[in-house]
Amino acid sequence: MSPAPGGAGHVDLHAHTTASDGDLTPSELVAAAAASGVTVIAVTDHDTVAGLDEAARAGAAAGVTVIPGIELTVRVPHGSMHLLGYLPTTRPDPLMGRLGELAAFREDRIRAIVARLAELGVSVEWDDVRGRAAGQLGRPHVADALVAAGHAAGRDDAFDRWLADGRPAHVASLGLGPVEAVRLVVDSGGAPVLAHPASLRLPARHLSSFVQRLAHHGLSGIEVHRPEHTPDQRDSYATIARRLRLIATGGSDFHRPGGPFGLGDTGTPGLAADTTERLLARMR
Ligand code: AMP
Ligand code: FE
Ligand code: FE
Ligand code: ZN
Repeated sequence: MSPAPGGAGHVDLHAHTTASDGDLTPSELVAAAAASGVTVIAVTDHDTVAGLDEAARAGAAAGVTVIPGIELTVRVPHGSMHLLGYLPTTRPDPLMGRLGELAAFREDRIRAIVARLAELGVSVEWDDVRGRAAGQLGRPHVADALVAAGHAAGRDDAFDRWLADGRPAHVASLGLGPVEAVRLVVDSGGAPVLAHPASLRLPARHLSSFVQRLAHHGLSGIEVHRPEHTPDQRDSYATIARRLRLIATGGSDFHRPGGPFGLGDTGTPGLAADTTERLLARMR
């Protein structure tokens, strides 16, 4: 992979750790970033900031710029929505104050999924599911429990059969609505960015007006660059970004070594050289 424009190294604005459903601890993630030439990494775990202090310490030691972040689960009527928040500190308020409540929403949703699975005749033990999460609980932990119980061949199979959006045991997320989530990040001094716009499953025109409404409430950017995006997807999200003057961000959504995409992998052509600066300029 060639270096980012400007030769400053790779920038990756979306990555997970063991604080949610990633396999690497925050320190290991930062070490892996350094090893793969990533000089700026945002740590964006699902609904938690628990990994950020460790990541910041590791970044300072390794000479990697760590941007504190989060990936909020947002309640939408169909599809699924995740909102990335880039944060001015590792313990931003009022976001910090809401996280306990959000954790309860996540847990209630996973309990509902486990109950739905039991109704479908594919039982997993709640304690087994809960015990698989070191930090934030999520559907991947249910998937692993399904595999262990012999109900699926692997994580992807478990999602395809039961857990993915539109599958029989899918339960919509509870918790924050889209505007509420955007405002929570803005009120915490952060820059909110719409993650993987495709997961909203909106036709192009509806996506554009949905994003416009969020922009009106302070959305800073939209994730244009992801390794799995087709050129058409990238172009259509880039068009929305230009039209609404949003920052076209990107990242690998790294979860584990040996996964489909490596750290710093944001697809071609990747991020503009000034993306990080523009994002940081949106924070208080
Ligand atoms: P949750 O936060 O509980 O909704 O789980 C979201 C996480 O589940 C994502 O970040 C992915 O790690 C994983 N995931 C979502 N959809 C799939 C899928 N179709 N196949 C495998 N993993 C998935
Ligand atoms: Fe995840
Ligand atoms: Fe996500
Ligand atoms: Zn993610």
